[in-house]
Amino acid sequence: MPNPATQIFYHPLSLEHDTGSGHPERAERVQALLSHLMLTKLNERLTWKTPNAASVEWIESNHGKDYIELVEMVSSSGGGLLDADTVLSSDSFEAALAAAGACIQAVDAVVGKDANQAFCMNRPPGHHARKSTAMGFCLFNNIAIGARYALKRHGLERVFIFDWDVHHGNGTQESFDDDSSVYFCSIHESPLYPGTGAAGEAGKGAGEGYTLNLPVSRGALGTDYEALLDEKVLPAMRAFQPDLIMISAGFDAHRRDPLAGIQLEDEDFGMLTHRVLDAASELCDGRVVSVLEGGYDLEGLAGGVEQHLRAFLGDG
Ligand SMILES: [Zn+2]
Repeated sequence: MPNPATQIFYHPLSLEHDTGSGHPERAERVQALLSHLMLTKLNERLTWKTPNAASVEWIESNHGKDYIELVEMVSSSGGGLLDADTVLSSDSFEAALAAAGACIQAVDAVVGKDANQAFCMNRPPGHHARKSTAMGFCLFNNIAIGARYALKRHGLERVFIFDWDVHHGNGTQESFDDDSSVYFCSIHESPLYPGTGAAGEAGKGAGEGYTLNLPVSRGALGTDYEALLDEKVLPAMRAFQPDLIMISAGFDAHRRDPLAGIQLEDEDFGMLTHRVLDAASELCDGRVVSVLEGGYDLEGLAGGVEQHLRAFLGDG
């Protein structure tokens, strides 16, 4: 029986964003997740939703008009390269609108109490995307668009974004650098791409004190992450008193991942999720919207997502 409390927003266009052969951010990632959810029968316990494309108006809440037109133009002319490693195909613009749309509808579902938690399982990912620049496999910053939508459309006052992708979410940080209504917290490997996210980066102007960067060294373990959650992340959440918690859920801190050197096991993603859920039930009626970012080893990605969703479903 599907559990209405846990919704999964997935659009088949995620498989049509073609980055070419040998690219780590590939359609097989989502294909592997779909297969794994079927194999484990977790698919039968989740409530599946197909998101609509985000309207350009909401993309513009976080990106420049010229940049959005550029993405559309390059995509509609058959594709091309937007930065050294960010590739577009003819379906990429539509796939990116669907990935952003998923975050918007996941916010509607969770804030509207249709669901307690939602997982947006789409590509392209988003957390490196800057206002007017594609970066690091990302076109539009899905989670930032979702957070802006939660504030503007639903009138929420405070959104906490916890980014546990192994790379620093530079695009998201930049979006809310001077904004005290969105708290951005990231655990990431350092040194590593994109090179930002030093511990001293704590926000600017009105946003000073609303950014928390927790760089960790290559080789860090689940127990290191657990300690950081208990000592830093959860106290920051409690002090901020969010109305909604959003997760930039990358699975590239998995020990199998080829792009990084952190040593998390599948179960560690369950531990992280349980910690966030406990905080959410204490602080914001359990509302959590999670958004897929990276994760480039198919087995590590599938194992991590399984544990993430099992935590949502109340297993273990
Ligand atoms: Zn990443």
